[in-house]
Amino acid sequence: MIKPKIRFCIICGRLIPDNRNGNSKFCSDNCYGDNKAVNAAESYKKKAEHIVVVNNDEILHDFYVLVQSKEYVPAKQLVARNFNWSIHTGGVVIKNIKAIKMIRYAYTFFENQTLIIWKL
Ligand SMILES: [Zn+2]
Repeated sequence: MIKPKIRFCIICGRLIPDNRNGNSKFCSDNCYGDNKAVNAAESYKKKAEHIVVVNNDEILHDFYVLVQSKEYVPAKQLVARNFNWSIHTGGVVIKNIKAIKMIRYAYTFFENQTLIIWKL
């Protein structure tokens, strides 16, 4: 006697009926559709974030060209360019200073509302 394989839906956690395709990870067409929608939303979010990171990196580039890492840049100058402070690609340590990474550039934010821009 062949034991039926017990499988659970990766979306809702319910048992996957035996009449579903043997490789199916979903209990129903609804859950299959929900999974596609979730993936599409995640993909859209990633693309949108990437556009912001590219824009941030472009702003850092413009200021780096002007002052390199030699001068502090007032944060309000980046605010004026619509710099997005909540999105980045990670942290990095440069010359023992913690910095926030974009693509080609990173920045360190100081308490006096200025920053130093680093070329990576
Ligand atoms: Zn389900």
